[in-house]
Amino acid sequence: MSYSRAHWRRVCDETRRMVTEVPLYRDRPQPPIDPAEVRGWLSRVPPVGKRELRRGFPKALVRENQDLHAAMRSEQVTLLATSGTTADRLQVIWEWSWWDPQEREAMRLNARIARAMQRPDWREAVLTTPACGAGTCHFGSQTTEERSIDGILFFNESADPTHWTDSECERMLREWCEFAPRGVEADPAYLAIIARTALARGTRLPSPEFITLTYETTTRAMRRDIARAFDAPVFQLYGATECGVLFMECEHGRLHPNERHGHVDLVPVEGSGRLARVLVTTLGRAWMPLLRYDIGDVVRVAESRDCPCGLASDGPLLERIEGRQSDCLLVAGETVTPLMLDDAIHAALGSTATLEQWQLVGDSLLVVDPRSEASAAAASAAVSALLERGIRGERVAAIAPEASGKYRLVKR
Ligand SMILES: [Zn+2]
Repeated sequence: MSYSRAHWRRVCDETRRMVTEVPLYRDRPQPPIDPAEVRGWLSRVPPVGKRELRRGFPKALVRENQDLHAAMRSEQVTLLATSGTTADRLQVIWEWSWWDPQEREAMRLNARIARAMQRPDWREAVLTTPACGAGTCHFGSQTTEERSIDGILFFNESADPTHWTDSECERMLREWCEFAPRGVEADPAYLAIIARTALARGTRLPSPEFITLTYETTTRAMRRDIARAFDAPVFQLYGATECGVLFMECEHGRLHPNERHGHVDLVPVEGSGRLARVLVTTLGRAWMPLLRYDIGDVVRVAESRDCPCGLASDGPLLERIEGRQSDCLLVAGETVTPLMLDDAIHAALGSTATLEQWQLVGDSLLVVDPRSEASAAAASAAVSALLERGIRGERVAAIAPEASGKYRLVKR
């Protein structure tokens, strides 16, 4: 990594203020004055996880000179619950004036998205769990006006897409056709369901200029069906409600860091080549600054620091987001990530696979594949081989999401 001296100076100044002002970090060792030493200092600072953020919220995260209630009254910030699985759910002090610019800037790291966002007919739609779109609640029946904020249309109204009714699907397909978004931000599981529904009904949805996938891990089956329904490039936008956007995928399939808004430390997962955990220290954030926050995922670091897209990044480049750390499995000392299971399943099924969804629950691999009876056996044999233990394949009609509306790939 080759961060500039100016970047280290900023990390140094901001972490110094965090340790002085934020109760959660008060017991951390004092940051050095010299930016050249901050990297070594950071590596000795213990990470914080979701548990630490939950404990003492919000007081432990409010700076000593800040008045949270006054900021809430003036709508400078709002308290927001993330849509993580129940055990992961977090409350966040949400600050529009930080969130919006850092997300826009992350998106513009991708040259194609940057061009699309400049056009006069730019309009955007979001498809995700209703609770986690932009900090407002879109549960229940609302008009398209009620589900529009700053020109962004939020399609979804219910938490469980496995049980979207025909009329809900019809409404979303109709709204998609009428609104014809130029950019779409979507949960990949949700968008895959809409894509399959549109394909099954022969509805041609207007293709946006790009689709960004975020909120949960994208499997090959999701990507395949999204690509069949839309003639639009698909990019990963990686981040979380509590820490902002950390990485944006470019046109050459590499994830570039959003480094003006956060400093990322990668901690290698032991004995696993290019796998790493992501610790973020937020930059430029007045409210709820994070110091070495462990987002709880495992990523694969890119082999090369150079990218043909030409975007110069001082921070690390990633190849892909592998899934949640808690969903990784250890086999003879080696880490197997959810996407490595997905790779094995699709390698076994080949390019004509029709499998839509899978979930590993203990020793059972649940498989949703309405068109093939054989895939459960083939997929479970592949997973058995990778995990070096017997895995039973079971063909099911549907896999339910967690209470949060997100799907889990691995359950113990
Ligand atoms: Zn690139």
